[in-house]
Amino acid sequence: MLTDALKRGQKALSEYDSKRLLAAYGIPVTREGLASDEDQAAALAAEIGWPVVLKGCGAELMHKSEGGWVELNLRDEQDVRAAYKRIAGSGARGLEGVLVQEMAPGQRELVLGLSRDPQFGPCVMLGLGGIFTELIKDTVFRMAPLDLVEARDMTEEFRSKAILGAFRGQKPADIQTLCRSLIAVGRIGLELDEVGEIDVNPMIVDPRGGLKAVDALVVLKRAEDA
Ligand code: ADP
Ligand code: MG
Repeated sequence: MLTDALKRGQKALSEYDSKRLLAAYGIPVTREGLASDEDQAAALAAEIGWPVVLKGCGAELMHKSEGGWVELNLRDEQDVRAAYKRIAGSGARGLEGVLVQEMAPGQRELVLGLSRDPQFGPCVMLGLGGIFTELIKDTVFRMAPLDLVEARDMTEEFRSKAILGAFRGQKPADIQTLCRSLIAVGRIGLELDEVGEIDVNPMIVDPRGGLKAVDALVVLKRAEDA
């Protein structure tokens, strides 16, 4: 997948492909499928279960909500058909299909990331996601590879860690899965030279504590650097 994407001159993987890569490393992602027509979108939604989210998907579509290509909380087939028409008719350049995915419940949003530092190599980031990301700028970094203790330390150093605990009647986040996901992001950085950066924004913590990446972006290194 990465080699093909580089050959095609892509700068990034689409959300769909980015999540397939993360899932291959054991990171939990939304149930989803790519539709290329309205009937397919409706069939996928019925299979995934309501409510669903529809998104314009393509390697060049990066800021999807700004472009108007994210339609949340669609409750029935009529909603899905209408949303499909809006996205497909938006004239988005580089639209490769419409992503139909489960709508993750919950308001707690985290950001996980991978960056490459010229001195320290691949570094893993954990941060606060959602509407407060810019305001609070709460991020923690560790160099890859991470072991379980280091991953655990990240969740402890995280100033917003209270949202990982029991919160407004919601269960504590599944810390084990969060730690495994942080370790996995670091492994991708060490094992896959083609990957320049990863941005999982957000990973949602559901009311029962379960975690799921609902958006992901894998940025590729330029072919000559990989
Ligand atoms: P963007 O490319 O603009 O970052 P996202 O896919 O992150 O687009 O969607 C924007 C926002 O919509 C997310 O930050 C999240 O709050 C919400 N969202 C997106 N997908 C889902 C989903 N499957 N379940 C619940 N909320 C979602
Ligand atoms: Mg996002």
